[in-house]
Amino acid sequence: MSKTLPRRTLIKAVLLGGAALPLASRLVQDAQAAAQPLVDPNDVLAKSLAYTTDTKKVVAKDNPTHKPEQHCGNCIQFQGKAADKQGACNLFPGKDVVGTGWCKVWAQKPGA
Ligand code: SF4
Repeated sequence: MSKTLPRRTLIKAVLLGGAALPLASRLVQDAQAAAQPLVDPNDVLAKSLAYTTDTKKVVAKDNPTHKPEQHCGNCIQFQGKAADKQGACNLFPGKDVVGTGWCKVWAQKPGA
């Protein structure tokens, strides 16, 4: 007895597989873009960098280089888009920072 699949079944499988690939690719992209846990401002590294979730609350006398327009959303280390509420930061692997945040190593993202 032959164990080959009928041609029609094979064609269906190929067509369905081809249609599913873009969907699977999209699901992977969405999962990668999914929010990660937020950095805790009391975390040791966060504290050492004076990370705060609100750039408006930065104490000027403690951080004389800070400017009000500086925030995570326009920092070169921020991996999200400028208007994103939160996104990955190269300094905190596996965590997100909030777009309105700030820390001592802020540097202007070109074009942001
Ligand atoms: Fe925010 Fe930039 Fe500091 Fe990361 S390096 S916490 S994005 S200011």
